Amino acid sequence: MARPLKALIDSSALTHNLAVARQAARGSRILAVVKANGYGHGLLTVARALAGADGFGVLTVGEAVCLREAGFGHRILLLEGVFEVAELAQVDRHRLALVVHTAEQIAMLEHARLSAPVDVFIKINTGMNRLGFAPHQVPAALARLEGCGNVASLTFMTHFASADEPPGPADQFRLFREVLGGRPVVFSAANSAALLRHPETHGAWVRPGLMLYGASPFADQTAAALGLKPAMSLVSAVIAVQELRRGDAVGYGGSYVAERDMRVGIVACGYADGYPRHAPTGTPVRVAGQPSRLLGRISMDMLCVDLSDLPEAGVGTPVTLWGEGLPVEEVARAAGTVSYELLTARAERVPLMEI
Ligand SMILES: *Cc1c(COP(=O)(O)O)cnc(C)c1O
Repeated sequence: MARPLKALIDSSALTHNLAVARQAARGSRILAVVKANGYGHGLLTVARALAGADGFGVLTVGEAVCLREAGFGHRILLLEGVFEVAELAQVDRHRLALVVHTAEQIAMLEHARLSAPVDVFIKINTGMNRLGFAPHQVPAALARLEGCGNVASLTFMTHFASADEPPGPADQFRLFREVLGGRPVVFSAANSAALLRHPETHGAWVRPGLMLYGASPFADQTAAALGLKPAMSLVSAVIAVQELRRGDAVGYGGSYVAERDMRVGIVACGYADGYPRHAPTGTPVRVAGQPSRLLGRISMDMLCVDLSDLPEAGVGTPVTLWGEGLPVEEVARAAGTVSYELLTARAERVPLMEI
């Protein structure tokens, strides 16, 4: 039997979550963000399930070319634009849309010899201080782009630092509107959190990522409460059982010591699979559909779970690390991280299985 660890991908959940996004942002086009291999779910599997979106947001030219070669004719936006001038040949050949966030990228566009102009998203830094033109740099950048024959259309873009938690995106959005001035402009600002909670930020294009994969961007509202369905279930099985006596320790460093005689299940999943090594004893896990918990340290290829209340469990018993019945957000919270990191950390050696 093959190693039992798999990432089950529910494409109907992806399609369902896209419908939730549509419902919440009726007046906007949807740029489904599929960077990082579709948040770990598999780029093409995700793109097929989300083919009803109006466009796709990716990080690299390679991802964009992969989508084009698979036949997707959608608008495809490079979320950070090009990293070097050589990439403009692929942008031209595959009709990609570009974020432009530096003067260097404007210069590349000005000097490029393209067969046709491309769509440009001009990124404005409204307070996240990561990418984009500062408000005072916008007029000059805009003038250059408006005067550039390689630009087909211009969309104003910004990204929020805290759409999912206080203080929220209001200050950034106010500055964004100020920079845009009174003119009727096409803009794109909303990630999943802003799409769900801040309709005033929707604009022409919303850019949901996380919500499409069925996870909640909010600490105070679950994915289920938002009507979202988890698209990935990371599942495995018990591959060995240990009978511990009170005082016996489990795993590296012996960090968990049995308080009483107990049974422990060894599960095929470790940090080399993308499971967070820092998940502590007590992190939730489901064994045979029942809630249980991790014990001791995560190994490279294995982890240990408590079978005390599961006398029927043994070798072969199914284990869900996250997904159906166990929101990835809960595991992320226990491990001191976010669901984004867990989903995108799935290792190459964990096969995807579309269901
Ligand atoms: C990743 C990304 C998104 C999607 O954010 P979510 O929080 O996953 O919805 C949107 N816009 C940009 C620019 C991004 O890089």
